[in-house]
Amino acid sequence: MIDLVRHPKLRQIARDLHIPDSEDCLRDLRDHAIQTVREMLREWSLETIEDLRRLVADRLSLKIEFIRSDEDVSRLASEYQHFFLRFRQILDAEFISGDTEGLLVDNPSPKKGGRRYLAIIDARGSRAARAYFTAWHEVAHLLLCPPKQMMFEGFRRTPSDALKRKDPLESAVDHIAGLLAFWEPLFKPALLDTSAGNLTFGGIETATGIVAPGASLYAATLAAIRLWEGPAIFLTAEETTKTDGTGYALRLQTVIPNELARPLNLRIRKSMRVPIASALFQAFQENLDLERSAAENQRMWEVSGHGNLPPLSWKIQALRRGPAVYGILKPASSPLYRLSGRIVSNN
Ligand SMILES: [Zn+2]
Repeated sequence: MIDLVRHPKLRQIARDLHIPDSEDCLRDLRDHAIQTVREMLREWSLETIEDLRRLVADRLSLKIEFIRSDEDVSRLASEYQHFFLRFRQILDAEFISGDTEGLLVDNPSPKKGGRRYLAIIDARGSRAARAYFTAWHEVAHLLLCPPKQMMFEGFRRTPSDALKRKDPLESAVDHIAGLLAFWEPLFKPALLDTSAGNLTFGGIETATGIVAPGASLYAATLAAIRLWEGPAIFLTAEETTKTDGTGYALRLQTVIPNELARPLNLRIRKSMRVPIASALFQAFQENLDLERSAAENQRMWEVSGHGNLPPLSWKIQALRRGPAVYGILKPASSPLYRLSGRIVSNN
């Protein structure tokens, strides 16, 4: 993971945006983007994050188009053929023969009232769940683009996840997109409402359906963990080949604690094998799209050659989703957490 806090490339972007130098340019860029959106929102009251995206895209002179079928590629090629010569061939190469996720196009000669940018996002089939986030990624790019400065010439592809992780700007943009895609003033009240003191996948899905329809459960759970007012950890596990090649084992792929969970003695790590007795394992095996919840203990987890992990009792929620199983951990009995002068109980 590259250090984004002091990265020279991000610092330069902050300077171009006339943000005074500070210790943490990632925070500066994030605050700049959030503040810009807050100002756009003045005098507006919105009900869903889709409305928010429409408003912000409008202010940034961005038109967002989703591809939901192959025919859409052809329709967009006709609609925007005045953009470039051979625009149809470009779209065919990207979205029919290629597997581009998103394309941001600079309109070379916007007409009066026309938009300066066009984002084309693939939302066909399995891409549909990611499309919601990809659209916010492109919006976040434009929020970090100094006014009157050309961001790029022609068009630019949404990079793959691997490329994003290597590029400080792409990583920063993804981070900001995560905040915008689950805009706290809309998502948090919905989440608290539907969760009734207990963070569950059911509650997250209901909240998402109300204020952020179209978002994936993965992205929504990441946001829910971040906004939750008690310690919580998001897990995913998938089946991988055993090291000796004799079959498969269900192993953790993601372990993401929120800020409040950091002080816990959490020892589970990526690549650890999920114990057969865990609800996580059972939910994966059953594959019923049914949420399980259980009281468990970190002690049931084992590190090969080192024995069991230290005790820590927690409540677990587990839900199979496609090839993965998702989990949420919350400490079973923990002291009350003091949060900015407030006592927040942990459920
Ligand atoms: Zn990007």
